[in-house]
Amino acid sequence: MTVERVGIVGAGQMGNGIAHVFALAGYEVLLTDISSDALIAAVALIDRNLDRQVGKGLIEPLEKADAMARIGTTQTLTDLGQTDLIIEAATEREAVKQAIFEDLVPHLKPDTILTSNTSSISITRLAARTDRPERFMGFHFMNPVPIMQLVELIRGIATDEPTFKTCEAVVAKLGKTSTASEDFPAFIVNRILMPMINEAIYTLYEGVGSVQSIDTSLKLGANHPMGPLELADFIGLDTCLAIMNVLHDGLADTKYRPCPLLTKYVEAGWLGRKSQRGFYDYRGDVPVPTR
Ligand code: NAD
Repeated sequence: MTVERVGIVGAGQMGNGIAHVFALAGYEVLLTDISSDALIAAVALIDRNLDRQVGKGLIEPLEKADAMARIGTTQTLTDLGQTDLIIEAATEREAVKQAIFEDLVPHLKPDTILTSNTSSISITRLAARTDRPERFMGFHFMNPVPIMQLVELIRGIATDEPTFKTCEAVVAKLGKTSTASEDFPAFIVNRILMPMINEAIYTLYEGVGSVQSIDTSLKLGANHPMGPLELADFIGLDTCLAIMNVLHDGLADTKYRPCPLLTKYVEAGWLGRKSQRGFYDYRGDVPVPTR
């Protein structure tokens, strides 16, 4: 299977980064979102991030111009029907993702590969609602996409080998490294990472340490480049809560129960960096802990 044109659904934190790396690697990219503001912001951000790469000497100005020219945007989801590979990177809610795939399916070429960038939702369940479970798999980028080296590839129960191999080759062409994961809740990275973040939030909730002492402890004591609360803000607290709920529901083990303090932050709309407030307040010059 040859992949030349790529459709990306969702132009948020992940969607813009995914569009960036595909365009830079020579793919034609069509990016869609229900929000026109999100599309405008995504293209502006890709432009700035490519500029930064030019400034650092990582890419040539001409490569930037070519990459920008390969990115198209549309608010009409079904325009993605003629692409070879679709990566869904919309909000981490199963009903949202299912509706997107249901709307897309009647407009697809027979051999288009469908994938989801979901951090945790069952690939097999999403695939089962489409006409092509064998050409459906998980394509899980890490944040920020242009910088992080890993792409986790997740096989649904029905994913066939040519589909997996095609996606593996695409990851290699992006200059990234893939790992293979079976389709169990939250796959590999978030199965391990998210309970640690949730435990850091419990540590804060129970008053064992302040935001600053928890983050400093893990940075200096475990050599993590970011503290767990800083990282939670970076990922998005709504996404963190959604992943914990998937682990809790999918594995039916109380060790995965989301911390009530995480739920409270999400209820307040304090979702981390993307809403300017989470475990830190980002509205000033330097981030200030909110507890
Ligand atoms: P985000 O909130 O930044 O962006 C989501 C985007 O999806 C928004 O722009 C929204 O308008 C759009 N959207 C919602 N419904 C839509 C629809 N029906 N059609 C088209 N667009 C729609 O979220 P994000 O952090 O970019 O996460 C997107 C996906 O990537 C989620 O599945 C998440 O689990 C996954 N992911 C996130 C991270 C992370 O660190 N944030 C890392 C890996 C994977």
